[in-house]
Amino acid sequence: MRKISNPDLSQFSSIRLLSQGENLYLLEGINDCKYLEELYKKDKKPFIVGNGTNVIFYPFVKRDIVRLVRHREIKILKENKNEVYIQVDSSYHLKSLLRICLKEGWSGIEGLVGIPASLGGAVSMNAGSFGYCIGDVWTKITVWTPNGILEIKKEEVNLEYRKCDFGQRHYLILDVVMCLKKKDSLKVKEETQKWYLKKKQNQPLSYPSAGCIFKNPSFTKSAGQILDECGFKGVRKGDVCFSTKHANFLLNLGKGRAEDAIYLIKKAQEEVLKRYGFLLDLEVILLNL
Ligand SMILES: Cc1cc2nc3c(=O)[nH]c(=O)nc-3n(C[C@H](O)[C@H](O)[C@H](O)COP(=O)(O)OP(=O)(O)OC[C@H]3O[C@@H](n4cnc5c(N)ncnc54)[C@H](O)[C@@H]3O)c2cc1C
Repeated sequence: MRKISNPDLSQFSSIRLLSQGENLYLLEGINDCKYLEELYKKDKKPFIVGNGTNVIFYPFVKRDIVRLVRHREIKILKENKNEVYIQVDSSYHLKSLLRICLKEGWSGIEGLVGIPASLGGAVSMNAGSFGYCIGDVWTKITVWTPNGILEIKKEEVNLEYRKCDFGQRHYLILDVVMCLKKKDSLKVKEETQKWYLKKKQNQPLSYPSAGCIFKNPSFTKSAGQILDECGFKGVRKGDVCFSTKHANFLLNLGKGRAEDAIYLIKKAQEEVLKRYGFLLDLEVILLNL
């Protein structure tokens, strides 16, 4: 385990806003989980960060932050001519997993291309895109809890839009078992490329961001359309602004501050509430304690 005191949290979230933490713990293997027991005895449970692509840290964060950084090889558990079951560390990058899927001809996550998540973060957020969803392909997770390490099957979990409730909030997903279909690797490559190009067209990828800020409401148009109608495209505070390409993305144009992002988020929520009569729900996690 490696402890970083007073970490610069801009290094641990994709939007890279200026923010300072108190303690950050990097866990390098399952044995390091013993240190978690002490952290979980505190009033405030530690916050687990994956790739930090869905998190905005407040300017100062007092809560302990934990990141798992072990990187083991992907393990094939079983396979037949149609499908393969693999076990993957939660810290594995989705991008690296996709690369292997392309090579091996494993199908099931092609539409998740371009999501800069760790696998644990993707499972925890039930990440999805273009009709693909990580929740459709994982079958079992191994989770560290203060009462020991548990295996949780998908049937035991409540999966919703951008939410995976395995009844063990704040506990650490260690690894994930996935079932992928076997296909011609060329087909997997073509499908992945198709979605990648679509994503590049729709999403602003040239500046640091935290993905979509708000969830799409279930009963009306997308959050991006609503923000666009409210005139938020390009609205800026300091070095943080709503993208002109996709209004639901906040971008860091250089030296963005967490305060400015929070200001813009609140302003957008207030305006939508005034015009449409409902509050846009946050997709991004604002970590303030
Ligand atoms: C450019 C861009 C494009 C994006 N596009 C999409 C998209 O198309 N679809 C989509 O769904 N999302 C998208 N996102 C958002 C984001 O990538 C996803 O929500 C992703 O699943 C977050 O993964 P992460 O590893 O970064 O998790 P983090 O942001 O680090 O954490 C997110 C949540 O997961 C929890 N968590 C992380 N790791 C673990 C673990 N090992 N155990 C337990 N809990 C854990 C955290 O505590 C937190 O609650 C995008 C983001 C960016 C920046």
